[in-house]
Amino acid sequence: MPSCIFIKNRLMRRIIVLFGIHFFLLSVFLYGQTPQTISSAEIFLRLRKLNVLGSVLYVAAHPDDENSRLIAYLAKERLYRTGYLSMTRGDGGQNLIGDEQGVELGLIRTQEMLAARSIDGAEQFFTRAFDFGFTKSTEEALKTWDKEKILSDVVWVIRRFQPDVIITRFPEEFKMAFHGHHSASAVLAHEAFVAAADPTKFPEQFKYGVQPWKAKRLLWNTFNFGTNNTTSEEQMKIDVGAYNAILGKSYGEIAAESRTQHKSQGAALPRTRGQALEYFTTIAGDKAGADLMEGVPTTWDRIDGGKKIQQMIEELIRNYSLSNPEKSISNLVSLYETMTKLKDSYWKSQKLKEVQQLVEACSGLWFEATVHNGYMAQGDPMQVNISMINRLNTNVTVKSIAVGNIDTTLNQLLAFNKTYSLSENMAVPATKTITQPYWLQEEMSAGSFNVKDQSVIGDAQSKPAYEVQFRIAINEKDFTFTRPLQYKFLDPVRGELYQPLTILPAVTGQFDPETIIFTSNKGKTFDIRTKNQSLRNIEPKVSLTAMNDVDVKKDGNAHNATLSYSARPLKKESAVFYSTLVLEEQGKMDSIKELKTLSYDHIPRIDYFRSSRAKFVITDVQTEGKRIGYIEGAGDRVPEALQQMGYEVVLLKEKDIVAGSLKQFDAIIAGVRAYDVHEWLSGKYDMLMDYVREGGNLIVQYNRNNMGTARLKIGPYPFSISNTRITDEQAKISFLQPAHAVLNYPNKITGRDFEGWVQERGIYFAGQLDSSYQAILSMHDPGEAEQKGSLIVADYGKGKFVYTGLVFFRELPAGVPGAYRLFANIIALNHKRGF
Ligand SMILES: [Zn+2]
Repeated sequence: MPSCIFIKNRLMRRIIVLFGIHFFLLSVFLYGQTPQTISSAEIFLRLRKLNVLGSVLYVAAHPDDENSRLIAYLAKERLYRTGYLSMTRGDGGQNLIGDEQGVELGLIRTQEMLAARSIDGAEQFFTRAFDFGFTKSTEEALKTWDKEKILSDVVWVIRRFQPDVIITRFPEEFKMAFHGHHSASAVLAHEAFVAAADPTKFPEQFKYGVQPWKAKRLLWNTFNFGTNNTTSEEQMKIDVGAYNAILGKSYGEIAAESRTQHKSQGAALPRTRGQALEYFTTIAGDKAGADLMEGVPTTWDRIDGGKKIQQMIEELIRNYSLSNPEKSISNLVSLYETMTKLKDSYWKSQKLKEVQQLVEACSGLWFEATVHNGYMAQGDPMQVNISMINRLNTNVTVKSIAVGNIDTTLNQLLAFNKTYSLSENMAVPATKTITQPYWLQEEMSAGSFNVKDQSVIGDAQSKPAYEVQFRIAINEKDFTFTRPLQYKFLDPVRGELYQPLTILPAVTGQFDPETIIFTSNKGKTFDIRTKNQSLRNIEPKVSLTAMNDVDVKKDGNAHNATLSYSARPLKKESAVFYSTLVLEEQGKMDSIKELKTLSYDHIPRIDYFRSSRAKFVITDVQTEGKRIGYIEGAGDRVPEALQQMGYEVVLLKEKDIVAGSLKQFDAIIAGVRAYDVHEWLSGKYDMLMDYVREGGNLIVQYNRNNMGTARLKIGPYPFSISNTRITDEQAKISFLQPAHAVLNYPNKITGRDFEGWVQERGIYFAGQLDSSYQAILSMHDPGEAEQKGSLIVADYGKGKFVYTGLVFFRELPAGVPGAYRLFANIIALNHKRGF
């Protein structure tokens, strides 16, 4: 028997070597989510899929660019192996559900993409490109990403996935693609379509098991987005609006469910039913006349010896019993054995995997491996709980179970419908790597992530911390099933939940706050929080690096591993420096990492580690006013920044904005998209205007113009919100009103204050200004007209109203000194002293 396992393992290992790695071995389970069960009807659909040997790769730039309806149709109606390659993880967009930005937003969107794919049936891939924000040129996108690097990733995914047909969402011309990332994704798809087939291109990839791959054709899936219609009746078209009776849904319904997973960008679509035409035009390769797979063999005919396999599958389909799927097992096992005798090929390994999943599904088997905690520290003991059941009275013997360095021989026959449980005590080795998404393991470049391990490039996410191998004989044939080790628990409201297991370092730590702004030579206090995550008795000895520009003192005693410090700048000149925490344990120095956890109900818990780094900024910011009311919008970190500037910040909810309640505030600031996310806010218009009239200062950060033609009632005089944005974060700023208080008091604003900005200058500028507004600044993107709506100010009664599209919500948390100085002036506008 052990030799049998050995042979099986050797075979699996050969497949791994041949086809390179995980995406061919992922089970049907999405880790960090409740395991999916497969109904009898779905099994039937999958049996039919066994007879389809075709694959399609869809290519675009961002989460939500994909055509979910087409993808669902290709995966579940045509039954092709279907993939979506997104250049980026959507790190640079705006977040509608929280205050995460950058890589954190990319982490959320990665999980939203996986949730979407689990509905529409496609697989998910990403390149190493970073979504650095909106760009108005293909060239800028390619240059920032590092074109050769990202092209190699697209080629790598093509060589691994071996698509028969590649489809782009966007054209290569920027004008029709609206976003430089979009047009760049089409350019890269086109170049990769050619390069993937060329053995002289990226030959270093071949040692990882891939071969040159020539897809039949490259298509552009043209679109009709209302004002921008690139479809025409001469183009090839297919109807993807079919109804799938096995699933009880049309593809337009599946697509809506899939797309609604993109919650962080509010990309939900209504369910559609009935005919839905998709249009295509051939960009490269053999021209398609009537169908996208024209000329591509999509049956077992494309494999030597495939005819016999096809007949066996047809028989399986004919004899399939909806109420007793276990009756198919013996034929599925024979099919598996027959297939193992085929010559090694892409489709052989792909279909073997599918057959194995069907054997499992038809057996009514359930295996899981869980722990009682979502976190385990390096070096700590861990109890693994195994549960197994055979619910359809199949002939099943569990031979052994392996996890980590433990391999337990069982040879346990699983009796009908009886749960077998066992627990294994093991230890997390001190050398076990902490659980970090693979694209965040190395310091990133400006426009792309750095990944050392070629074999994981393209993968949607890292493998789980631990996988458990169940070696099982079904009808005396050996199979190995893999399950992630997960944290399982009961939430009284949400029900039974599964979350990932995260391996932690023994000690984590962080600065609080992470950006410390010294204004006008005043001292500041900050905390350092460390946490012993392990069960060991560790007394962390922590030190701070690079504190040469401040006089720093430990302040009083530690409370629950929180150390308080006070610091005062040594020099008055401006300075920006970073400090990290270092742990000294048994004579060894190690930098401490901060654990960041992102929790949302629609996706698994996300953990990642970052450097325990604080940014110290010594700058000269004068402020006027003290007490600020902040109406939080879609989430931003501006309130913390205001506190750093020395203001007292009161967060205002609907109930707090009542007649007479606002007088106490020197300024009221609306967070980003506050009017978009709070319907009630428009209802407070009169009260806010009363506040301004009586001498207040209402500052509104950007909102979107998604209210259609109805103009948002925000300011005392009309203005509209445009789609204008300045994406060049170094765009030159001209002062239209150089003598205006906002540029002079209490801080004299100069061109230097616009240095060091990050990502962009501003978005959703004001337009169609009533003559009562003064536009303060003017700026433009390369090759475009001047834009004057980034900062507008109006007098109203005794007070001031300000709308700004400048991205203070990015610049303040990033510790950009000039942004602090300008924001202080905006807040000071209703303080007349000096002006
Ligand atoms: Zn996009």
